[in-house]
Amino acid sequence: MIVEIFSEVEDEELIDTVSKGLTRAYNVKVVASHYRIGNAERAYNSRRRQYDASVLVNLFLNSVKLEELALIITDKDLYVDGLNFVFGYAPGRAGIISLARLDQRLYGLPPDRRLYLERTVKEAVHEIGHLLGLHHCTDRGCVMFFSNTIEDTDRKGSIPCEACMARIRV
Ligand SMILES: [Zn+2]
Ligand SMILES: [Zn+2]
Repeated sequence: MIVEIFSEVEDEELIDTVSKGLTRAYNVKVVASHYRIGNAERAYNSRRRQYDASVLVNLFLNSVKLEELALIITDKDLYVDGLNFVFGYAPGRAGIISLARLDQRLYGLPPDRRLYLERTVKEAVHEIGHLLGLHHCTDRGCVMFFSNTIEDTDRKGSIPCEACMARIRV
């Protein structure tokens, strides 16, 4: 299985850290490139000042190669209908994660690069987990636990629990 990362953010260390995190979790091969989602303004909701994650992923789906899973990394703040925001979204063969709410400064705290990278890896491993057929897990330490808040993200680990690993279809 190959996962292709399309990053809107030019941060080599971050992309590299995410790649290693995905390989550690799922033993997948990861390739990465820079990318800008075309026509992204179609997904922008000016009232909410956020992007509709499902529209963004749909704009992108044609670029996903068969036999590959794709992960978009964006700094856009994302939402889906019914939720104030989402850290990520993964409906089919492509997923997206947002960096917009992973920076400690958003919560009035000093920046913490290590924590920022760790949060990014967890969100990436979570969304790729969905693409591999996993659903949300009730184990708070499992990466597939649904993060309602950043505290949920910080509490959970960066790999799926054993029960989730056993359910993966590769
Ligand atoms: Zn999820
Ligand atoms: Zn689990």
